[in-house]
Amino acid sequence: NEILKSYDVDNYKILLIKGDITEEKVDAIVNAANSTLSHGGGVAGVISRKAGPNLQKESNEYVQKYGKVKTGEVAVTSAGDLNAKYVIHTVGPIWYGGNKDERDYLYLAVYNSLKKAEELELTSVSLPCISAGIFGYPFEKAVKVYKDAVIDFFKKNPKHLSEVRFVIYDNKNVDKFIENFDI
Ligand code: ADP
Repeated sequence: NEILKSYDVDNYKILLIKGDITEEKVDAIVNAANSTLSHGGGVAGVISRKAGPNLQKESNEYVQKYGKVKTGEVAVTSAGDLNAKYVIHTVGPIWYGGNKDERDYLYLAVYNSLKKAEELELTSVSLPCISAGIFGYPFEKAVKVYKDAVIDFFKKNPKHLSEVRFVIYDNKNVDKFIENFDI
């Protein structure tokens, strides 16, 4: 994967990456999941297939035990064959036009993923463009929310998490991401 941009925020780093999140060599990758953790399509399907069958199995066990994952919340599984220790599954909002608290839920999805990584004492985490695919969140708007969430998170001075990487998969989204992620 290619580093497009790197920002220093106090002692923390934010990187914009072009490529495939399943190729990331980090402590955890974040999955743009749905509430039942059924990883069929989109980035979730790719993550699930590349990780191997245990990821879906652990996801099913999680939902059996704790129920569906609410929008903005997270669940953790191991990462199987991926170059990461964990997959942090978060459920971003479906875009209904902007009057259903979509921004707040997207912010929480990112913020709670980072918070979980910190609780797990991880150093580095990679995130995909949550909600901006099948869930229909307008891309430019989503990017601004990712930025707000990660900046706010670093303001809390996390002890462990020091590198947050946003992975952009589609060529057509690269410029849009960089333009809207203005730090
Ligand atoms: P959601 O349902 O939250 O919208 P999607 O999986 O449909 O999630 O899409 C989220 C984003 O992930 C989209 O921008 C999509 O292009 C991107 N994506 C798809 N495959 C990958 C991949 N292998 N690595 C990183 N991002 C990916």
